[in-house]
Amino acid sequence: MFVYFDLDDTLLDHRHAERKALADLRDRYLALFGTLSVDELQAQYRAVSEPLWREYETGAIDKETLQERRFADLLAEMEAPHADPALVRRYYVQCYRRHWRLVPGAQAAYEAIAEHLPVGLMTNGFAEVQAEKLKEFPVLEERAETVVVCEENGALKPDPEAFRHATEQAGVEADEVLYVGDSYRTDVEGAQNAGWRVAWFTPDGPDDRSTDDCSFVFDDWDTLAERLTE
Ligand SMILES: [Mg+2]
Repeated sequence: MFVYFDLDDTLLDHRHAERKALADLRDRYLALFGTLSVDELQAQYRAVSEPLWREYETGAIDKETLQERRFADLLAEMEAPHADPALVRRYYVQCYRRHWRLVPGAQAAYEAIAEHLPVGLMTNGFAEVQAEKLKEFPVLEERAETVVVCEENGALKPDPEAFRHATEQAGVEADEVLYVGDSYRTDVEGAQNAGWRVAWFTPDGPDDRSTDDCSFVFDDWDTLAERLTE
């Protein structure tokens, strides 16, 4: 079996970095965001950025549009038409990088699994940002047989083409691949449609959305490591 891992919110704590960066943004631009708590700002930001990410993943908008619109639309929501979204975005990106960390427990499990099985990374994020993340946490790439940054191949998860390419990179058959990821839409459904098995990471606790027989759900990393190294 070959085990591919998703990066954001699976191995790397994207949500933590996003929240901290938004808190920094709120402190810096109190006049714009000061009426919101950090929770409210994050909810507002996600309400704007998640639909844009989905449009990006289906090819409806390009990367530049996504990058620009997530802050332009957020400022429009805040009724701050005179603020410069490019400046706000630049500060956010700077802060976001400063707050990267791995998901608690993920590194030990990843390394333990890599001792037993070939592992790889497969991510939808922006190529240049993902490259920085891999540089920051070199152990991820060091242990990986293959790293698939979907943007570089022109097909993003859940497009079956992204999984076909990753299968080819791994040099195994589709039913020999297990995908470890947190997103139901891009990781669970995407991998199942490609004939992969799935280990769905649900850190917020059980989720009753259905998965097929080839999948299992876990919310702590020791459980996954035990299951894959026995
Ligand atoms: Mg993810």
